[in-house]
Amino acid sequence: MTRSVGSLAHSLAAGARVGARGVVVHTGSAVDRDRRPAALRQVAQMLLPMLETLPDSAPDVLLEPTAGLGGSLCATIGELGPYLDALDRHPPAWLFLHTCHVFAAGHDLTAPGGVDTVLGELDRTVGLDRLRLVHANDAKDPCGSRRDRHESIGAGQIGLEPFRDLLAHPALDGISVIVETPGRKEGHAREVQTLKGLRPQ
Ligand SMILES: [Zn+2]
Repeated sequence: MTRSVGSLAHSLAAGARVGARGVVVHTGSAVDRDRRPAALRQVAQMLLPMLETLPDSAPDVLLEPTAGLGGSLCATIGELGPYLDALDRHPPAWLFLHTCHVFAAGHDLTAPGGVDTVLGELDRTVGLDRLRLVHANDAKDPCGSRRDRHESIGAGQIGLEPFRDLLAHPALDGISVIVETPGRKEGHAREVQTLKGLRPQ
């Protein structure tokens, strides 16, 4: 943890130098469920003092929930609550929604009204005003698989429709959407076009 906080401080300084708006932070894991309270206390002891001393000019700290393997501290939306509590719900700690990870962690974006359900749950747990970014990725594996394998938009288990619902949701007003899918630049350009085509006109 000392090392992770050190590397985060380093990334934030580097981010500030290049004018980055945010730096993505992986939320960490505990060896097993019994160790979670201790791991969260460690987050509080090490990460919180750093957040408290960040200058206003620092890039946003963007907490990335994972797909849920390996004792991850933040995969399901419910787990974000205790994590942010450990950080005293500190203002520079923002969140982002990662479609592949949240789906792999067990939130079914493909169910009827699935996107609304997920965003509603996110709102109740952490508040949608903490949402700063979306990583839009399809998933190779089914909902709840906890496997972190991204797929091109529309080519995986999520499919296109949930992305249409997501892009139409008021929570996404003014929020950046990034694709982080397999393939090279041309593939990414195509997927960005696909997403643009799904946006409400
Ligand atoms: Zn991933």
